[in-house]
Amino acid sequence: MALLEIVKWPDAVLESPGDHVTDFDDKLKKLVNDMFETMYAAPGVGLAAVQVGISKRLFVMDCSGGKDPAQRLVLINPEVLSVEGTQNGEEGCLSFPGIFTPVERSLRAIVRAQDLNGEYVEVDGMELTARCMLHETDHCDGIVFLDKMSPIKRELVKRKIKKLQKAGNWV
Ligand SMILES: [Zn+2]
Repeated sequence: MALLEIVKWPDAVLESPGDHVTDFDDKLKKLVNDMFETMYAAPGVGLAAVQVGISKRLFVMDCSGGKDPAQRLVLINPEVLSVEGTQNGEEGCLSFPGIFTPVERSLRAIVRAQDLNGEYVEVDGMELTARCMLHETDHCDGIVFLDKMSPIKRELVKRKIKKLQKAGNWV
């Protein structure tokens, strides 16, 4: 396994939709293993392929932070089937280190995706699981959490990032 480099905003790869995954081969399995390793090391609860510079539609997540193997998920070619309710909570992103800000999301989400063998799976998640699946599916679509913020909040966050960039703390 290898640690991959996490791409930071505003890298263009984060703002373009990933390609549909068609080959469920050993190369994909290796990428997924490396993505888990990178996510746990960061540490984070979700990581999309675009965040390691690979423009493909897949992500890994584990809301237990490695404590509960049942929460280890690989979702390939994810598609949000349905959402319900709303939740408000702090959200972060490994491509925006140190930025945590409230983002409104659906309380529940059902996502259809393929697993490492290409089989279709459906994940029905609430709260953090729903938030994480929606955040990561957005990444696959070239959407970052900045796009989900109110215009005022977005400007504040962009200003904060500019300051961090100037101070050399955003590389
Ligand atoms: Zn993210």
